Amino acid sequence: MRKCPKCEKRLSPFYFGTACKNCGADLLYYHFDERLERDAAKAAAQEEKVQRLLRKLPFRKREE
Ligand SMILES: [Zn+2]
Repeated sequence: MRKCPKCEKRLSPFYFGTACKNCGADLLYYHFDERLERDAAKAAAQEEKVQRLLRKLPFRKREE
């Protein structure tokens, strides 16, 4: 069920407006913001993974 991210009031799945009928929150903006945050978190996790992998790789020649 779609909910308003601000006031958490239920929204009809058939309501395609861009503002919450109850509190007037901009639904598009909230959704967009949330998605951006999720993408940023995903990117950070990916970066972390890459860094860990790079550290494991034997780039340097062994010097004895
Ligand atoms: Zn609302």
